Amino acid sequence: MKKEQDKMEKIISLAKRRGFVFPSSEIYGGYSAIYDYGSYGVELANNIKVAWWKATVQLREDIVGLDSAIFMHPKTWEASGHVGGFSDPLAECKNCNSRLRVDHLLEDIGVLADEKMSEEEINKLFDENKNKIKCPKCGKQEFSEAKKFNLLVKSNLGNFTSDWEKDPAYLRGETCQGIYLNYKNVVDTARVKIPFGIAQIGKAFRNEITARQFIFRTREFEQMEMQYFTHPDKEMEEYEKLRQARWQYYLDLGIKEENLKWHKHENLVFYAKEAYDIEYNYPFGFKELEGVHARGNYDLSQHAKFSGQKLEYSDTATNEKYVPHIIESSVGVGRTMLAVLTDAYTEEKLEDDDIRIVMKFPKKLAPVKVAVFPLMKNKENLVVKAKEIYNDLKQEYMCEFDDNGNVGKRYRRQDEIGTPYCITVDFDTIEKDNTVTVRDRDTMEQERVKIEELKNYLEDKLK
Ligand code: ATP
Repeated sequence: MKKEQDKMEKIISLAKRRGFVFPSSEIYGGYSAIYDYGSYGVELANNIKVAWWKATVQLREDIVGLDSAIFMHPKTWEASGHVGGFSDPLAECKNCNSRLRVDHLLEDIGVLADEKMSEEEINKLFDENKNKIKCPKCGKQEFSEAKKFNLLVKSNLGNFTSDWEKDPAYLRGETCQGIYLNYKNVVDTARVKIPFGIAQIGKAFRNEITARQFIFRTREFEQMEMQYFTHPDKEMEEYEKLRQARWQYYLDLGIKEENLKWHKHENLVFYAKEAYDIEYNYPFGFKELEGVHARGNYDLSQHAKFSGQKLEYSDTATNEKYVPHIIESSVGVGRTMLAVLTDAYTEEKLEDDDIRIVMKFPKKLAPVKVAVFPLMKNKENLVVKAKEIYNDLKQEYMCEFDDNGNVGKRYRRQDEIGTPYCITVDFDTIEKDNTVTVRDRDTMEQERVKIEELKNYLEDKLK
């Protein structure tokens, strides 16, 4: 346990120190469960989103993209069941007043519970197991009763009265509702035929009760969701295909397979056909990274009922009309980022007993691909040549120019942000053969490459 905690602390510290993740509003003492991405964090997040979009939209003939607004008609959230039922069971520790999620406390001692249980059901389980549960913060065993707490974040958008809680508009709790509301628009405009999918990336907001585990659980986060519309009889066949595709996606992304596993939901909501999560082995254990769910026709039927619109599909070939069934894949950018940071974090003992910290990111996700150094910063001809190479390569890749400190220190700095290749311009470059040293992040080996061959060399290596 200590080792895992240490790893988490090391990742959090590196993320802060090297500009991946900052706590929000730090100068005001922080703002619970909200984080900002720094200069390397935003590159990493963007690379994750590009990889997801490529796999989900660009490489698929049957999936199109969407970017719907954060605000939707408030009825959306009544139809979806969020106003009535989007809640987590909350209890308080009577000693230290920590707010705790009861389903998680139960899970931690191996008792199956989830957020879908009623207040009564969860309190019964809680009472039966209270003697085995300790407050994670203070270790005491005195808790209040569990109360279901709604996670939707309210706003006064469009409300100009003094009663700001009147008829709230909600910040979306999940991005997929925007997909359901646009189902008809997409069918009418995108020339799609069932089965087809709609994908989008965007912010979601939840009033999460517990604010632990860094960027794993935040109150503002980004989701990457794909909703796939199927014929009712084909739902489960397509679901199996989606499960396989999503597993393969993580392998292609470069995540270590031993850090992934499937978790089957035992306690399904009444309309769901089947639900699995892909879990990642975070420093605090295997936890949900992504949900892959078969949802029947609940979503479109509910919106048809609440809006009074027909949300059917007409199959012109068979003359059949039906409400499509939906299978979905839903993953957070932040949770992917934490998985990628965890997978990449490496400490290596060097020959002189020094420890090298290196982020072994898959190359396509690395925030900076190439760093260029002049061997010495006070030799103008070295600096000019290095700048020339940097200016050329930055047309293709995210590059960094660094002339600060000795080259060994610069390597270490690049290792900590996971830069796959460092290029050094030295006296041989200028005086002898027009070659530079290229140093590999993982093997630390160096080879001489001709400047005119650099682009091909890097293209090949970074493929
Ligand atoms: P959990 O049980 O961990 O609260 P969930 O089952 O409520 O998650 P979903 O509603 O299925 O999550 O959301 C889909 C995905 O969105 C999750 O797999 C996760 O990657 C991401 N996600 C959900 N809530 C958060 C959050 N508060 N912070 C960051 N990512 C989140």
